[in-house]
Amino acid sequence: MLLTDRLNDAQLLRDKAYINGGWVAAHEAAGFSVYNPATGAPLATVPDCAAEDTRAAIAAAEQALIVWRETPAPLRASLLRALHGLLLKHEEDLAQLITAEQGKPLAEALGEVRYAAAYVDWFAAEARRTYGDVIPAASADRRLLVVKQPIGVVATITPWNFPLAMLARKVAPALAAGCAVVSKPAEATPLSALALAELTSRAGFPAGVFNVLPTSSGDRVGGELTSNPVVRKLSFTGSTATGKLLLSQCAEGVKKVSLELGGNAPFIVFDDADLEAAVAGAVAVKFRNSGQTCICANRFIVHEKLYDEFAERLALAVNALSVGDGAEAGTDQGPLINAAAVRKVENQLEDAVASGAHVICGGARHERGGSFFQPTVLVNVRGDMRVAREETFGPVAPLLPFQSEAEAVELANQTQAGLAAYFYTADMARAWRVAEQLEYGMVGVNETAISSEAIPFGGIKESGLGREGSSYGIDEYLELKHICMGGLG
Ligand code: ADP
Repeated sequence: MLLTDRLNDAQLLRDKAYINGGWVAAHEAAGFSVYNPATGAPLATVPDCAAEDTRAAIAAAEQALIVWRETPAPLRASLLRALHGLLLKHEEDLAQLITAEQGKPLAEALGEVRYAAAYVDWFAAEARRTYGDVIPAASADRRLLVVKQPIGVVATITPWNFPLAMLARKVAPALAAGCAVVSKPAEATPLSALALAELTSRAGFPAGVFNVLPTSSGDRVGGELTSNPVVRKLSFTGSTATGKLLLSQCAEGVKKVSLELGGNAPFIVFDDADLEAAVAGAVAVKFRNSGQTCICANRFIVHEKLYDEFAERLALAVNALSVGDGAEAGTDQGPLINAAAVRKVENQLEDAVASGAHVICGGARHERGGSFFQPTVLVNVRGDMRVAREETFGPVAPLLPFQSEAEAVELANQTQAGLAAYFYTADMARAWRVAEQLEYGMVGVNETAISSEAIPFGGIKESGLGREGSSYGIDEYLELKHICMGGLG
């Protein structure tokens, strides 16, 4: 079935770049195809933007900023509320777009749309709360003030794993703060971003405050976004390697940078854990989106007393997952995004098995072919194997045994990543102790559904800079300015 036939509103499938409130082709007039990872079918051909298109979008944003930054916060808030309403109104179509270009099951895609919409709603409210301060002065003839102002033109670069939500949680606070935005979605998934642009237009946002540039090569658009002096801030979500590169590119112009990079989340099961809850949490946090989320559990660190039972129960639950096209009812796990993702998983598995690990469930490509992979559980894993050291970004659960609490924490912290960590225990004192010892930006205790618009999402160490969501999230798009009022005596 054609994608447009699945949509109630075919206008949400856009195949042009969105610059200055208009739908345009790329200057070089080149295009590239977007494919459905479940079927390999082409979905659309979109413009392949490059530096010249990026300069046009930046110029449009710079122009739009003049009015937008002066637009009263309640008005910005009401436009964001309108956008929130439209996201929910079109949630089913948006979910179809996400599933078509990204592969996740429709139910997960619908969850992503609502998650994205929640950030827009949250920041509609935060737009009105960018309060300043008055600082007590040392002399009576002065008043010392702090005001918060929009940082200016913001660039966003986002990944394919949550093509709508990763964008919404950058664009919503940026627009709420009074910034104008130029966005580069991932090559594999530009359609969700273009649909968001369509909805900002319908919501009534002025031309130029939000621009979307599809491209097949991130570096061409990214090079301009990071070198153009008009861009004052970059917000990036993606791999650690690309994040480091972009950070170095932004150093030249001393741009403000937010980075949400790779994780290597530990999931510790202590000997006093509720095993049933731990297994349910493990399945939810490992196999969602086929293991392609940056807060997916990457290593299961399980007390030796429970190790065999946990492995057995996990394998049982994982065997019950149904692999298929995300658009089909009953699918629990869709395909991986592409062939390279499958090869990465295979390489890690080969390395682990060659070093003594055993596959107790899955372990190979799925019979559906393409980029489908079997949900996999691996035992006898050690911390020095690639599957434990590197982020897998696929449906593989490696289980490492431990004996003491100190050993578990040491294993968990044995990485340069520091995004999310999880552990299961019934001991309250241990819950506090371990939560404080884990070197991660987010810790789930007896819970894996840790993310929402209300919390500061982000990592420490090499997992990133800055936080998204919550009352802290809007600060990433604001500058503090001190105003010293003198001569008041
Ligand atoms: P992944 O491995 O998940 O694809 P990437 O970090 O490569 O992670 O991709 C995340 C985003 O970064 C995508 O939008 C991608 O196009 C973009 N990207 C990758 N390389 C560059 C680059 N050199 N400059 C700008 N953007 C880039």
